[in-house]
Amino acid sequence: MTKKRVGKDVESIRRLNVAVTLLSGGIRPTNVEAVTRLPKVTLSELWREMYGRPAKGQTPTFAYTFMRSMDMNKGCSLFATLYKNIAGNVTGDTTSLEDVEIFIRSYERYLNMAGSGAVLSMEQAYYVWRDLRKGFIQLRPCNRCGAAYLYSAHYEATGYVRQCQYCITLGRVRRRVMRIPKKDPHVAMFSPKKSEDVSQ
Ligand SMILES: [Zn+2]
Repeated sequence: MTKKRVGKDVESIRRLNVAVTLLSGGIRPTNVEAVTRLPKVTLSELWREMYGRPAKGQTPTFAYTFMRSMDMNKGCSLFATLYKNIAGNVTGDTTSLEDVEIFIRSYERYLNMAGSGAVLSMEQAYYVWRDLRKGFIQLRPCNRCGAAYLYSAHYEATGYVRQCQYCITLGRVRRRVMRIPKKDPHVAMFSPKKSEDVSQ
């Protein structure tokens, strides 16, 4: 077997492995075809084998359509930050096999970091990844708390994709702390007068 042939075979196996990972993460054959360039027929067959039915139902047009809660926005922002940490500022429509492998690695890191609080499916992460590359959503650094958050200027995007959700969380925590009454029994227990009493 020639060196060139072996290289081609390895490339095919890599491509197929990537496709199987994406399909088992719930990413539709049409989207997997777009990034792996494997025949749609093969991918649809694999999907049917995995799920016992053809891939049906509507897919979101843009990632911001499902970013409709604080937790979801924070999850998407965390995933996008992890992806950018590995890939840098990658933009554009064309994806190499390596780009897709970086996407998978970033999603695995997201699952590790988020643990039981993970809210983002691989399919949703795919749309975040795609739209981030196309510039439909941007990762912005917050000049108040320093975190990076996903932002979209589109008129259909909700308030959750317009401002830093970490700042909103911090604001809520601050307001909750300020509402604690000053004469809290736990605070009184550790007051200097009380400790003097104990030492006597
Ligand atoms: Zn912030």
